Amino acid sequence: MTAAIPPGSPVAVVGAGTMGAGIAQVAAASGHPVFLFDAHEGAVEKALVDLRMRMEASVAKGRRTEEEAKEILDLIVGCGWLAECGPASLVIEAIIEDLDIKREVLAGLEDVASPEAIIATNTSSLSVSAIANGLQRPERFVGMHFFNPAPAMPLVEIVSGAVTEPAVADSVYATALAWGKKPVRCASTPGFIVNRVARPFYGEGLRLAAEGVADVATLDALYVGSGGFRMGPFALMDLVGLDVNLAVSKSVFEQSFHDARFAPNVLQQSLVDAGHLGRKSGRGFYDYEDVLPDPATVDEHKAPAAVEAHGDLGWATPLIDRLAAAGVFVDVVPAGGPGHLIFDGIHLMPTDGRTATDLAVGQVLGTSNVAVFDLVHDWSAVERIGVAVAHQSDPATLAKAAGLFQAIGCAVSHVADTPGLAVMRTVAQLAAVAADAVTLGVATPDDIDLAMRLGTNYPSGPLEWADRLGLAEVATVIDNLHAGYGEDRYRVPTMIRRRATTGGSLREVSNA
Ligand code: NAD
Repeated sequence: MTAAIPPGSPVAVVGAGTMGAGIAQVAAASGHPVFLFDAHEGAVEKALVDLRMRMEASVAKGRRTEEEAKEILDLIVGCGWLAECGPASLVIEAIIEDLDIKREVLAGLEDVASPEAIIATNTSSLSVSAIANGLQRPERFVGMHFFNPAPAMPLVEIVSGAVTEPAVADSVYATALAWGKKPVRCASTPGFIVNRVARPFYGEGLRLAAEGVADVATLDALYVGSGGFRMGPFALMDLVGLDVNLAVSKSVFEQSFHDARFAPNVLQQSLVDAGHLGRKSGRGFYDYEDVLPDPATVDEHKAPAAVEAHGDLGWATPLIDRLAAAGVFVDVVPAGGPGHLIFDGIHLMPTDGRTATDLAVGQVLGTSNVAVFDLVHDWSAVERIGVAVAHQSDPATLAKAAGLFQAIGCAVSHVADTPGLAVMRTVAQLAAVAADAVTLGVATPDDIDLAMRLGTNYPSGPLEWADRLGLAEVATVIDNLHAGYGEDRYRVPTMIRRRATTGGSLREVSNA
């Protein structure tokens, strides 16, 4: 494997904003002299003052000694001229996200840098191949996409453009590793890994909110309480900034020639138009000047004394043990057809993408008193679950279903009867986008899963999660979403369809 840039050799960082200052700190902490340049007067000085304050704070918290902090700060030198970056072996560009300005600055950098130097861009949304177009040495140009805040976030996407030399990508990969980061490799494609694969997390959430399936507080609580996500999509968009998130969505949508899976949502656009940009403007999906709303929760209802578990419950099988541990008598009845629970005159089924109403109309379970429940990431940690009931069901169906989940200590939110509910449809779509990314050579399955766990804090990588759910199940959910919406947005990737029948895993690298 190609070696990392050696510790003593200089690194230049061009652009001393949020990312540039953080990257300069990371490089200096690994022993590199760092040249920090910015075109705007006072920007480097401000970055150095901020860095000093960060170092003092980390010393005060006992994270590093005073000597270590001093060594890092001493290694970072502010530059007044781009030419001062000339001696660097690695130059990392972190200026404004504008293709023309980046091209112009990089062309100037090539004039002053050694021909052996590697030039990297920290772009988060522009094509690395497009930025390289027009450079004298595009083969020595690569993407090095750090996440914010760069010193704390372990993930770095190493992005190869169309003509990046493999040895150049290998060298920055090794360098990121030497800097204590967890690099992943990907091709220069819209959104790279994280910003591409994460789109359905926002997109499905936004569609659910726009359709009034539940309010945003309830949806967020379901993503956290049953999906195991650190934050729901609305709280996260508010944190990131709705405008920033929308810009990424639009960029990935445009660059993928309007793939419906990546379609931005009118609800988000209208909030941005209204100036509701999230926490930074005091209001986004939530109003931060007001008390934040609680999720809608179904009232307490008595637990069933006994439950029949018919057939194979698939991913919901651990529910049987949880119920038994809670003192509910569970009679396991071997049966064909979709696995479901029967108690107190209702039939309760883990969602497979069909609505409870469809199941009732088709008499799939032989009754109209049907409820469906949403996907749970970890049955030992589930705190809240989404339940929908068939329109024609008995009015007590919801309360009875709620009583069952309340018996295992889980809060219940009633959501409208929509295909795939919230968590299941989102995870199925994340898996679909991730599987297509593998097929299209964006990255390896392992790197996609690692990037999503580190870059977005997902509780599992989407490919691993889909494997665990069962690929036939994931395909069924997406097919049922397609049947429900009739949209190209919900389509089963060939890889999932094929491996669902051959019994393969999405994490195997092969063309089958
Ligand atoms: P920022 O606005 O905080 O900093 C950009 C800096 O570049 C500013 O200090 C500005 O003065 C400087 N600059 C602008 N034009 C310049 C020029 N011609 N020459 C030299 N310096 C110039 O922006 P940021 O958030 O640090 O983002 C920088 C890059 O990193 C962008 O490409 C962005 O997409 C990417 N990025 C940002 C994040 C994030 O969360 N902020 C995460 C990953 C990647």
